[in-house]
Amino acid sequence: MKKIIIAIDGHSSCGKSTMAKDLASKIGYTYIDTGAMYRAVTYYALQHDLFLPDGSIKLDKLEAAMPDIHITFRFNEETRRPDTYLNNEYIEDKIRGMEVSAHVSPIATVGFVRTAMVAQQQEMGRAKGIVMDGRDIGTVVFPDAELKVFVTATAEVRAQRRYDELLGKGQPASFEEILENVKERDRIDSSREISPLRQADDAILLDNSNLTIPQQNEWLMEQYLRVCNEE
Ligand code: C5P
Repeated sequence: MKKIIIAIDGHSSCGKSTMAKDLASKIGYTYIDTGAMYRAVTYYALQHDLFLPDGSIKLDKLEAAMPDIHITFRFNEETRRPDTYLNNEYIEDKIRGMEVSAHVSPIATVGFVRTAMVAQQQEMGRAKGIVMDGRDIGTVVFPDAELKVFVTATAEVRAQRRYDELLGKGQPASFEEILENVKERDRIDSSREISPLRQADDAILLDNSNLTIPQQNEWLMEQYLRVCNEE
């Protein structure tokens, strides 16, 4: 069967990666979580003291550091999912906590960060056979993707899912803090100047507020099969 590019965009914590990972593993495609790449840059910036006390970024230093930031994914046989590495250090757990979540959207507004990430993402998709999730995949990274999905759900549903996920991993969490973070990231992601979060004109909208995980996985599989049959 011909390989295609599947672009899944949407709001924070809306379950994009859950459905993207599931589809990729069922159809033998590579899954790329582009949010993890912006989170990895944020983790680097936090580790290297590149934030000022008011939350703004030391842009000159970050720009100079970009060539030293190498993000890779390695498939984890146990979880059947890719783990994120920064300069060969395993950072998968570290980038999911509240500290990185609270700093990532400002990092993702920086033009030179986006240019570097988008170039890497386009390279990863050159051979097709890829499911990529993020905010600008269908609009900027792969505007010609054969299947584009835009996922959303209410902020409360999304915060609850993130809360359950963190608790499940044994990480302390406050529902109120997560809800605020989800809303704040939506605001910054949708209003930024470069590549704001928006639904591509040819993307299919999925509001999964009332869908279970198996239901949404099944829905995505149907979309994939439909597009492949049309190709
Ligand atoms: O998907 P996730 O919530 O992990 O993404 C973290 C943050 O990275 C988002 O809130 C957004 O600011 C940024 N992001 C982005 N473009 C992407 C993926 C993520 O700006 N393609």
